[in-house]
Amino acid sequence: MNILILGAGGREHTLAWKLKQSPILNNLFVAPGNAGTAEISKNIPIGVNDFEAVKKTVVTENIQMVVVGPEDPLVNGIHDFFLNDEALKHIPVIGPQKAAATLEGSKDFAKEFMLRHNIPTAAYESFTRDSLEAGYVFLDKLAPPYVLKADGLAAGKGVLILNDLATAKEELKQMLVGAKFGNASTTVVIEEFLSGIELSVFVLTDGKNYKVLPTAKDYKRIGEGDTGLNTGGMGAISPVPFADDAFMDKIHKRIIKPTIDGLQKDNLPYKGFIFIGLIKVGEDPFVIEYNVRLGDPETEVVLPRIKNDLVAVFRAVAEQTLETIDLQIDDRTAATVMAVAGGYPETYEKGDVITGFENIADSLVFQAGTRLTEGKVLTNGGRVLALTSFGRNFKEALETSYQNMKKLRFKGMYYRKDLGFDL
Ligand code: ATP
Repeated sequence: MNILILGAGGREHTLAWKLKQSPILNNLFVAPGNAGTAEISKNIPIGVNDFEAVKKTVVTENIQMVVVGPEDPLVNGIHDFFLNDEALKHIPVIGPQKAAATLEGSKDFAKEFMLRHNIPTAAYESFTRDSLEAGYVFLDKLAPPYVLKADGLAAGKGVLILNDLATAKEELKQMLVGAKFGNASTTVVIEEFLSGIELSVFVLTDGKNYKVLPTAKDYKRIGEGDTGLNTGGMGAISPVPFADDAFMDKIHKRIIKPTIDGLQKDNLPYKGFIFIGLIKVGEDPFVIEYNVRLGDPETEVVLPRIKNDLVAVFRAVAEQTLETIDLQIDDRTAATVMAVAGGYPETYEKGDVITGFENIADSLVFQAGTRLTEGKVLTNGGRVLALTSFGRNFKEALETSYQNMKKLRFKGMYYRKDLGFDL
């Protein structure tokens, strides 16, 4: 089978690495890819939202399956584009159609979905420019901190958590009237603040059947002790130590099953990954958000723990025979540490040479913001690369990644050395 992966990050390098191990894979392409994917597949220099260019690649390279990494093309309807095109409609796309991708594309839509299907989540109300005054009244009724969310995609920046009521009101106005996040904040969801510890659960569904994949916990803040600005993710651990059988049972019964049933009841066709962002409040799980794709850097710890042939698993998703797959999970812990460019997530440099790859032992290198120029691997983004390692527990796995991190070099390189501090 010839497969095209869309995306350019650590998630896509990990997908490529995993698919590459399959005996039923012929040719692998990644668009646009990075220096890591260039080593194990063919990079195609096109944008993930340029559907006509994707079509051209699929036709000329005789692609038989497309795996979508990021949310943007899904929310923009790439799956529907394939279904509506005579030349493409027989080619399976791993990732939901536009209607279901709205679970990530609109927080208001996701909250309504949860309410309709009795899925536990924070109490909320949604507001537009016309209901700004009602938004102020709703804020008056809540206790701090106040959680304001731009409804649409805002590259992970659209959520504000504020302690002061006056500031919350001013920010609400900026979002609704001042278009602080452009069209993404035409609608704003205000919700009750939940206090607890977060984790992520990944589910793969073919629209009828589903498999629960390993849990993961990521670290979003740039600074040690979870301080400073939010990033795309500084590292992750799988499994999550506090997600024991009793807690997973609650997640399954109260969240996963109703989510899959809800998709079917609402006639939302779904073939792909569902990433459920959860928070554990006391002993109970609540949904913070749905994402309609794998997470990054969670993918770097979730996929290495899956022992199955991922091409065969994806084929079962396409054919709606996922029930025939016996998912085998490595029971060791996987941890990944992300190295970023100095200054990230604010301004940072690109184009610095990365050296030391040949010295890495016992860790998997998943490249993110990198590019290959004249045989050299150069930095090409804020999050540069991740090192994933296995261990008997997360401390052991992290220790191996940290030891190997010391062997890599690039100008301004930074990584957090305290992952797992809260476990
Ligand atoms: P991502 O960066 O994962 O794409 P996002 O912009 O889609 O995030 P959310 O995941 O909904 O937004 O929220 C971002 C973060 O804000 C969450 O990971 C969580 O830490 C915090 N958060 C969101 N909602 C709440 C809530 N109701 N109570 C407490 N914290 C919350």
